[in-house]
Amino acid sequence: MKKMECDVAVVAAGLSGLAASIAAAEEGLRVITLEKSKVTGGAASMGMGPLAIGTRHQANVGYNLTPDDAFLKHMHWSHWMVDARLVYDYYRKSASTIEWLEDMGVEFVYRNTTLYTPSRMRSYAEPERTCHAVKPADGGRLGPRVAARMTKAMTERAVELGVNILTETPGKKLIMEDGRIAGVLAAAADGEELEVRAGAVILATGGFGDNPEMIKEFTGLTWGKDLFSFRIPGNVGDGIKMAWEVGAAHGDIRLDLMYQIPDNTNHFNLEGAFRQPMLWVNKLGERFMPEDCLANTCTTGNAINRQPGHTCFAIMDTALLKHYKKRGIDIFGIQGPDVFDHFDEEAGQALETGYPYFVKADTIEELCEKAGIDLPGLRATLEQYNADCDNGGFDSVFNKDRQFMRPIRKGPFYSLQSFPGAYGSFGGIKINYKTEAVNEDGYPIKGLYAVGTDACDIYGDTYPFILGGNTMAFCLNSGRMAAENAAAYLRSLG
Ligand SMILES: Cc1cc2nc3c(=O)[nH]c(=O)nc-3n(C[C@H](O)[C@H](O)[C@H](O)COP(=O)(O)OP(=O)(O)OC[C@H]3O[C@@H](n4cnc5c(N)ncnc54)[C@H](O)[C@@H]3O)c2cc1C
Repeated sequence: MKKMECDVAVVAAGLSGLAASIAAAEEGLRVITLEKSKVTGGAASMGMGPLAIGTRHQANVGYNLTPDDAFLKHMHWSHWMVDARLVYDYYRKSASTIEWLEDMGVEFVYRNTTLYTPSRMRSYAEPERTCHAVKPADGGRLGPRVAARMTKAMTERAVELGVNILTETPGKKLIMEDGRIAGVLAAAADGEELEVRAGAVILATGGFGDNPEMIKEFTGLTWGKDLFSFRIPGNVGDGIKMAWEVGAAHGDIRLDLMYQIPDNTNHFNLEGAFRQPMLWVNKLGERFMPEDCLANTCTTGNAINRQPGHTCFAIMDTALLKHYKKRGIDIFGIQGPDVFDHFDEEAGQALETGYPYFVKADTIEELCEKAGIDLPGLRATLEQYNADCDNGGFDSVFNKDRQFMRPIRKGPFYSLQSFPGAYGSFGGIKINYKTEAVNEDGYPIKGLYAVGTDACDIYGDTYPFILGGNTMAFCLNSGRMAAENAAAYLRSLG
């Protein structure tokens, strides 16, 4: 068995693990970071950027939300079912974390795009302007994956500070001695067992979004049947299980729920084309929400999740397709404004390859049969919906904005089926406001810290788009907090 020694061992080099590693090294601690995959960065490499409150970017545009304001909004959102002190400390730290990242060379683009979107169609009716997107490389478009530049800069900073990042080296088991953490066992890249002796261990393994069994156990959803979520390879709940093994209590466990179509990356524009306020029905053919409110992917995910079969269908007819091709989209999503320019190509591809979630049909009967929608139910819905459209556009079911009341009459008809999705999981290891893993009685397991997704149960039942950029920000700030608290703990040991 190989043996190594350090002050702090960080298990994983995703976003929270990198933050913890850098902050621990800045405290003057010797840090070894164990990373399961070949590369660092984890899920964060797919996103846009973190929340912060009270930054100079916000001050520059006269936006003055305070951490206290955000804290109260957050606590009302979560119905005070979460750790208030952890949330408060996190928001107070968030602005300094942006400066900390900027000192590493990360650049941010701070924009207030929500002001140009009608309130009912925003991700949240009254969103705060908290997200700081990472600036794309020269000429790049602001969108998914820009945050990879942040994790790259963080990795470089960690290396510069002397953090020993061991890739392809998964952490396996915590070492406890005399009632406190003494290190972690890992599998080295060459397969040999590795013992890393450390006074403190910070777990940051990114949750269990890639573990269908844990997803089934804790949410009841079956991946590939009624859940089509992102699966970041290797995020299978290792850190959570390691902490539970040494007596950490279970935190609240959920999915970072949203909605999506299966295999969405291969049908990217098709998905964007249907994420519009057209007619949306469940398997019974019934409407279940005003379609102009579906821009918030998380709350729409909740709505879809409670439908029969956890699924729904967006439907348009030829006239509506023609309208969208000519006039463009109503709701702007991550897919961008030009999704209908790609409609024929992607629809043709989906039909050719037999993608079962997209249907083109000459009649409503054929549509229902192919898609699996109840025909009498859809017929009744269409009768009402089309009559409402003819009647000045007053939506008698949900009062959807009348500008989106467009009848569905003229074949061919098209439908696309959506399901709950998720960015990943939330929570697992119960922590206190110092990010220490705690036992059932609330006492810390000495020397053990958990950060990021492994410990993130601060939202209640739904991710708060009201304060966007929240998951990355929690990862960054909890990582920093854990490192600072671990340093204080190690100093207290003398
Ligand atoms: C498509 C997408 C877009 C997103 N966009 C945003 C956004 O714009 N803003 C936002 O706030 N949030 C966003 N998120 C969420 C955010 O990216 C995540 O919440 C965050 O990256 C999670 O950080 P983490 O450190 O907990 O886990 P990760 O960054 O996923 O890191 C986990 C790491 O643990 C490693 N690992 C696993 N097991 C072990 C082990 N046993 N030993 C060692 N290493 C291990 C993995 O290889 C991985 O590197 C997005 C997520 C997705 C999927």
